[in-house]
Amino acid sequence: MDKIKMTTPLVEMDGDEMTRILWKMIKDELLEPFIDLKTEYYDLGLEHRNETNDQVTVDSANATKKYGVAVKCATITPNAARMDEYHLKEMWKSPNGTIRAILDGTVFRTPIKVKGIEPCVKNWKEPITIARHAYGDVYKNVEIKVPGAGKAELVFTAADGTQTKETIFDFAGPGIIQGQHNTVQSIESFARSCFTYALDLKQELWFATKDTISKKYDHTFKDIFQEIYDAEFKEKFEAAGITYFYTLIDDAVARVMKSKGGFIWACKNYDGDVMSDMISSACGSLAMMTSVLVSPQGYYEYEAAHGTVQRHYYKHQNGEETSTNSVATIFAWTGALRKRGELDGLSDLVRFADCLEQACIATIESGRMTKDLALITELADPLVLNSEQFIQAVRGELERSGF
Ligand code: NAP
Ligand code: MG
Repeated sequence: MDKIKMTTPLVEMDGDEMTRILWKMIKDELLEPFIDLKTEYYDLGLEHRNETNDQVTVDSANATKKYGVAVKCATITPNAARMDEYHLKEMWKSPNGTIRAILDGTVFRTPIKVKGIEPCVKNWKEPITIARHAYGDVYKNVEIKVPGAGKAELVFTAADGTQTKETIFDFAGPGIIQGQHNTVQSIESFARSCFTYALDLKQELWFATKDTISKKYDHTFKDIFQEIYDAEFKEKFEAAGITYFYTLIDDAVARVMKSKGGFIWACKNYDGDVMSDMISSACGSLAMMTSVLVSPQGYYEYEAAHGTVQRHYYKHQNGEETSTNSVATIFAWTGALRKRGELDGLSDLVRFADCLEQACIATIESGRMTKDLALITELADPLVLNSEQFIQAVRGELERSGF
């Protein structure tokens, strides 16, 4: 059979540790035998980031703007221990943070559903995707510990010197104060990324804040979403047969628990932080969670939600066997290949992505899986495979499906 052709390269961002090992196995076993893989390769492994003074991360993000679609391996975010381990010139910033800032994007996380790994919430029949606004609010706050009696004020000084003042509280004794901000530009980007991605998945979009209590701050989020929806997305949503739904955050939480799933839940920064941990733990394993960064212009960067699985890498380096789950990394590739295929009109590439995902699911549903899943599956007597064996089993399923 001829290999599937690509017309535009994918931006390939290689990474670190165990996921770098899996990355190569996935390319060797599951991609290159079937596709004439066209990528523009950026090595985001920590050594190379250090050699290039992290310029490679910036270049890879700019390439994503040029080509539109990227696939990224998990990378180390340096800390003090990594400074010594890799003899770093500087404590380089998180690559994900750098890429997100350049693409001005929003991260969407979705659990991968397989029979035998069931969510704790029995009525969730379809995955719930969380979109977290990753800028501002309590994460960029300013706080003061109030030592004793006094008046706290909120003051804004405009560029021309005009001041707007509000009393926060007249303290009779000690207390605490917090100042939060966000920007219209960031909220607009967040809204556009959410609407764009909902159209992409053809799924409903939910958004919730506490606008009844926070009549200016949260209400601004609600208004911006509504304005952008009405002006730019309403007709497209109607044509796609999907809806945008706004409600209060407490109502949203109650509805999510009772829902069947199958929608995107856009969350403010704090809500998204908390709720994404709830959804992922309710769905079993971080190793079964995909992640995609979507920019307001519609650039996409696909990756796994988990990290570089450091502990497994050290075992691998010691020559010990590992059973590391490659599913989320495979789905990063299939997400990117499918998107490339859709943009370039390559139906073979789209079909390949679908079949490779199906092959992963079929492998697990047949009872063959890595250790992390074997520990939580409801299937009887799962067969625990090592990292290579699992990928080979997926290849077997893929070939059975006609490739
Ligand atoms: P991690 O790599 O996600 O792994 C934490 C633990 O979760 C592992 O030790 C393993 O548990 C389990 N696990 C995660 N992914 C798995 C998989 N695919 N298969 C099987 N088990 C899996 O998080 P970490 O150890 O805290 O972080 C390691 C490095 O990753 C850090 O340097 C961090 O900066 C980086 N990181 C990168 C990203 C990213 O690039 N997006 C995200 C998060 C963290 P057991 O050991 O119990 O088997
Ligand atoms: Mg968190």
